[in-house]
Amino acid sequence: MASPDYSDGCMIALYPPPELAQALAVDDGLPAEEMHVTVAYLGDAADVDGDALREIVAALAERQPFTAQLAGHARFTGGDKDVIVALVDSPDLEDLRRDTLDALQERGIQPPRDHGFTAHLTITYLDPDDEAPLDRLGAQQVEFTAIAAVHGTDRTDHTLEHPITGPAREAFAAGWALSGGPMTERVKAASTAAVQTAIERANDPHILEVTIDLGRLEGMWAKLFGRREEKQAEHTRLVTDAWRDLINRDAVTVMVDRFRSQANLTEGVRDFLSDALAAARSMLGALADLTGWTKVRQTIRDAIAAGNAEGMVNAVAIAAERAALLGLDWNLAFSDAYESLARLDELWGNADGWLGRTVDRAADDLGKALSQAAEDGASRDEMIDAAMDILASEDVDAVAFVVDWAMTAAADDGALRLYRSEGVQQIDVITAGDGRVCESCIDYEAGSPWPTLDVPRLPTHPVCRCCYAAAMSLSNFASWFA
Ligand SMILES: [Zn+2]
Repeated sequence: MASPDYSDGCMIALYPPPELAQALAVDDGLPAEEMHVTVAYLGDAADVDGDALREIVAALAERQPFTAQLAGHARFTGGDKDVIVALVDSPDLEDLRRDTLDALQERGIQPPRDHGFTAHLTITYLDPDDEAPLDRLGAQQVEFTAIAAVHGTDRTDHTLEHPITGPAREAFAAGWALSGGPMTERVKAASTAAVQTAIERANDPHILEVTIDLGRLEGMWAKLFGRREEKQAEHTRLVTDAWRDLINRDAVTVMVDRFRSQANLTEGVRDFLSDALAAARSMLGALADLTGWTKVRQTIRDAIAAGNAEGMVNAVAIAAERAALLGLDWNLAFSDAYESLARLDELWGNADGWLGRTVDRAADDLGKALSQAAEDGASRDEMIDAAMDILASEDVDAVAFVVDWAMTAAADDGALRLYRSEGVQQIDVITAGDGRVCESCIDYEAGSPWPTLDVPRLPTHPVCRCCYAAAMSLSNFASWFA
């Protein structure tokens, strides 16, 4: 079925996404790539200046992408051919049509007046006595993200974009750059959201300043969590290395033998867990007598000190962000804070507490693994390997878990202590700083601000990334700023 030839014509049109066009296409109908919604048909290309047309379309593209509804089909009659079309319903399309006619008129371009506007997307042309290739076209959404100037065979697409989009994107990026933070997925998502907000509030004369502030804030959080992650990884490594030095295959072998004899493995099905836990605890309880223990203790103490110091820097960074004060030298601030902790004896007490938790957790992991191995009928060597895997692999779960928790607790302690010593009266709890809203802490955030003395202790759970935040005078920290 031949379609009318419009290759000498000229129009402003919207093209649907290729997948949708593909789905609408019928045999002998319009090829998917030619399907479009005509916004304005302008007659012969020879009568319309191509550059003028493209300029008009570029200006019309300064708007948001929009979604229309394909609301069933129709059969246009009355021409040489009948036309099967999808009907396109959208107030945004009506706005676009009106703006298009205005713009054309301003340029002295008069579209032919032989048709009114029935928004549609042509699917196929038929002879009047041909049967329609479809009975029903189900409603569906179609998104238009670009507008095309079609001049004869030349088609130029302009992406639909609100005029504030570019400036807002730049404003956010400028704020982010000021923060010195890394570019993360979270920052990218925040940028998209900030641009969206700027579009919605495009008439607010301060909107770009607000957008800069948002960029700076996101950058600050990205920097804060990026540094925490780095420091935790570094200290997890150090503690793990010291810990692995303590684990000796011979001692593990003795422990496995003891477990196997106690559990009397020839007895068949039984509960091995209590015997396995007892053997694991007895072996790990003896670690404290080994010479390497001091080293492990030292590395945990250092991890806590680093967490404390980082928490102090974070508290100042957050207060600086609230005061829109730029130039915090995070590394210098960290060294300074770390040194101030050098003689803090309580760090050793904390280190012993966390070390105790590490041993308990490792014993639990080990006990469960041994018990499982026994249930599976593992051999002596297999059990030794399984135990070594729990205790001395590259990543010891118990160590990673406890170091994360200890450093987070230390960071929260450091921040809280600093805010208190600076006489801060009110403190917020923030759950969303790293983009993972924390369900356990959401009530604490909702209850913010808290009187300094009553603020809930963070972290409230392992792997908590919630933070204290407060405004305060930064005069005591002037030396941390460049
Ligand atoms: Zn939390």
